Amino acid sequence: MSSFDKSMALTGQPPKALSTSQRLATLLGFSGLAIILLASFGIDFPNEGLWMSMSTLLILGGVIWYTALSYSQKSKGIKNDGVWFKSISSMGFWGWIAGIAITTFYIVLYFFPEFLGLVKEGKNTGAIALFDPLSRALSGNPASQWFVYGTLYTLAILAFGIKFIWKYRHNRYEIIRTISVMFFQTAFAFIIPEIMARLNGSIPYYDLKNIWPLNYYNFERYRINGFISSGDIGLALLIFGILSVFVISPILTYRYGKRWYCSWVCGCGGLAETAGDAFRQLSDKTVKAWKIERWVVHSVVVFVTLMTTAVIYSYLGNDTSKYWLTKSNFLIGVTLLLTLVFGWAMLFKRKQLQKDAQYGAIGYFVVIIALIGLHQFSGEGNIFLFKSETLRKSYGFLIGSIFSGVIGTGFYPILGNRVWCRFGCPMAAILGFQQKLFSRFRITTNGGQCISCGNCSTYCEMGIDVRAYAQKGENIVRSSCVGCGICSAVCPRGVLKLENGPLEGRIEANQVLLGNDVDLMNLVNSK
Ligand code: SF4
Ligand code: SF4
Repeated sequence: MSSFDKSMALTGQPPKALSTSQRLATLLGFSGLAIILLASFGIDFPNEGLWMSMSTLLILGGVIWYTALSYSQKSKGIKNDGVWFKSISSMGFWGWIAGIAITTFYIVLYFFPEFLGLVKEGKNTGAIALFDPLSRALSGNPASQWFVYGTLYTLAILAFGIKFIWKYRHNRYEIIRTISVMFFQTAFAFIIPEIMARLNGSIPYYDLKNIWPLNYYNFERYRINGFISSGDIGLALLIFGILSVFVISPILTYRYGKRWYCSWVCGCGGLAETAGDAFRQLSDKTVKAWKIERWVVHSVVVFVTLMTTAVIYSYLGNDTSKYWLTKSNFLIGVTLLLTLVFGWAMLFKRKQLQKDAQYGAIGYFVVIIALIGLHQFSGEGNIFLFKSETLRKSYGFLIGSIFSGVIGTGFYPILGNRVWCRFGCPMAAILGFQQKLFSRFRITTNGGQCISCGNCSTYCEMGIDVRAYAQKGENIVRSSCVGCGICSAVCPRGVLKLENGPLEGRIEANQVLLGNDVDLMNLVNSK
């Protein structure tokens, strides 16, 4: 009588613990991390290049070995078995330990890099010194804390990308998408900017896949001066920066939805999809979370628009005989552009916007009133009553560091893997706005096939209740959907399909209950 099986599950029991081989693989990966940790605590590793190579190989080897043990003996298909029984992936003890450890790492990285061994005037020590040989080989400069972070970030995307591909090997979309994020992170974010720095030292560091407003600092005076003084390459980069905001991004979002960026290119999305995959089920699906998401993400967009306008405004002149683009002309231009976008959305897309129309209207009026205030209350170097630098630094600290790093990644094991993309990323918000109004992307649902298992909602990292749409046979057109395709990959009935098609009939408000009381011939004829 001391033990009896209380479970009524037909599917058998989840594995209670890791096998011995899995423990060894975990140990191998952590021994790579331990080298970096010991170096941070001042242990001397004389041959830095060798120890850094060993550390990265151990991490990579540990993850690949663990992956092979987990998936190589299983057939292709959905493999999320046991996620709610494992402490690490169900907000249990190990989940909290991992969250605290990653958060601590981010706090040290952003605010106390000297603990990692950063020496501004002189030779690096500790963990940062381990990465000096690689940094010198790529850019010719000693490593900084950002180089160490970039290397570990790329390593995480590559190692866990392999794990992700193995896990979802039944799905071609997931395989190609993951190869894409691995490529963009390695080439565009890591290698090319370092090599550019070697070729031309005056070019500002430019992660080519970062687009405004994600790189909100891109149009600051020191960067623009840096681009202009670096000859043709610098000028080409500046033009590329502007084109990517106004031409490349709108065209691609129109054709493919925001997934082209959030799930195929972006580094934050890349890390969330690969290293964060084990935590996707933790996203909050409640209506309350959806409301908070709308308020927070729209406020971030208003703030970043104002801040960028204010920063550009602060270095324009007033003299019309010297510059055609004066402070006043610039503000009039921004006001006109915003009015055009807002007017178009309200005139032609009000129905599709539904609740978002309210947020849009509020956001628009806040921006316009702030722009008028900007004109009235700003002096030389000042924006409203603050220094322009203070405004930018506050944004950099609150959104760029605390939200995207400390909370966005540190809280993966507690709040899910897309907290930043969902609640804080201004780029995702702007792309989402276009995705909802002017894009060919939608997820179609074959409602009659749905068995309401809820797999899709559970594994939607953006907290969308996908099942609710599937049960009604309604297209999913949501601003927040990043097009990761996992809902479709985990659906056992093939109900969901990510598609690009004509704009007409994309958002069908009159939901169809296929499989219930519906005359299919009438429905087909009315389409
Ligand atoms: S609805 Fe599907 S494709 Fe969109 S974010 Fe959620 S899981 Fe990914
Ligand atoms: S759409 Fe698929 S995964 Fe979602 S509830 Fe229906 S059958 Fe389950």
